[in-house]
Amino acid sequence: MPAISAPRGTRDILPSESWKWSYIVQTASKAMKDFGFSEIHLPIFEHTELFSRGVGETTDIVEKEMYTFNDRGGRSITLRPEATAGVMRAAIENNLCAQGASAKLWNWGPMFRHERPQKGRYRQFYQIDAECLGIAGPMADVEVIALSIEIFRRLGLKNLEVVINSVGCEKCRPVYRQKLIDYFTSRKSELCGTCLDRLDRNPLRILDCKNESCGRVSDGAPDIFDSLCDECREHFAEVRAGLERLGFTYTLNKRLVRGLDYYTKTAYEILSGDLGAQNAVAGGGRYDNLASAIGGGKIPGVGFACGLDRVALVMEEQGCSFGNMPGVSVYVAALGDDVRGAVQALTYELRKAGISAECDTSGRSFKAQMKSAGTCRFACIIGADEAANDTVSVKDMEDGSQVSIPAGEAVSYLKGRI
Ligand code: ATP
Ligand code: MG
Repeated sequence: MPAISAPRGTRDILPSESWKWSYIVQTASKAMKDFGFSEIHLPIFEHTELFSRGVGETTDIVEKEMYTFNDRGGRSITLRPEATAGVMRAAIENNLCAQGASAKLWNWGPMFRHERPQKGRYRQFYQIDAECLGIAGPMADVEVIALSIEIFRRLGLKNLEVVINSVGCEKCRPVYRQKLIDYFTSRKSELCGTCLDRLDRNPLRILDCKNESCGRVSDGAPDIFDSLCDECREHFAEVRAGLERLGFTYTLNKRLVRGLDYYTKTAYEILSGDLGAQNAVAGGGRYDNLASAIGGGKIPGVGFACGLDRVALVMEEQGCSFGNMPGVSVYVAALGDDVRGAVQALTYELRKAGISAECDTSGRSFKAQMKSAGTCRFACIIGADEAANDTVSVKDMEDGSQVSIPAGEAVSYLKGRI
């Protein structure tokens, strides 16, 4: 029988990589805390409607990337393709933003999109996500963008570019949308099939098309800045001023529209120069219409999602530090088979005192045990002599020195040195 493999586009994050992921998530978690964001745990699956109404029927995600199925009760369920809609759903359902209250929430976990797998693009991938709900003003946008930049600064990522744009609001976007439809209709023959399809349904997405000919046409497309209403124009100016006040540099890209319908005003991405085609390590923006799209009234929001898989890839490529590789501090070795029980007991005592420790449980030779001890800070050795005298030999694995300690003092001796 052939062995069963993981589904296409998924992969196992093995111990050789998982400790690096922990480092990234812990670093992000600390930054979230420093910015006053609280963690929220959400369902991995939601009602399909949440995404079709929240993310938008004409988006790539809803049209062709969702993992949707009927559950045993005949309800249409979707594995979440992104986190923002779920965060907003939870905020509405739990009244987190009632009476004008605001909520700063973050989470991390797997997302699911049926895309063509390639480097930096998977069908189950992971995002670190932060959302600031209930605040309409531009200072919230600045906070969110600053938070994402700060996470990358702490992780030591280099060669990043922050790209921002304003995509307008429900007042001014329809005007811009019509201008785009008129313009692209006049250049119809130069558009790819997908964009022809997008022309009436979601013309803004044409600006985002990677096709060369579409790109050339988009270069001459009407400028969104000329269409922004006063409110959007002012909001964007304040976001830019806020970013500049904090000392950030960014690039303006009026063709940055992002793939999700719910964005209003600010849209941004953080791009890495070291990722090739899949170059976005984070994306986000403001989504003042999401709450009403999913039946939750008026709750403004701004947030970002950062692609954990891609961040790990870039950090690896740039030789960034992931902190110390985890391993136990103490290895307790048995010199002779009679003392194996005493060795396990001492190992357990160390662990109870909060000292990470390991011992052999498979009957390996003393030599093999000491080889394992090589990566530890200390080795404790118990042999016949130690057992007879009720002592433990403690070997400093850095300088090779060895001392004999009364067995009852081994834990406190090591605690003071680790
Ligand atoms: P892309 O243009 O690369 O498809 P996107 O606009 O679809 O990205 P978002 O929905 O903004 O992505 O998600 C935020 C981040 O999640 C992205 O910047 C990226 O780092 C990551 N991401 C998105 N899709 C995938 C995927 N299939 N595999 C791995 N990471 C992904
Ligand atoms: Mg995508």
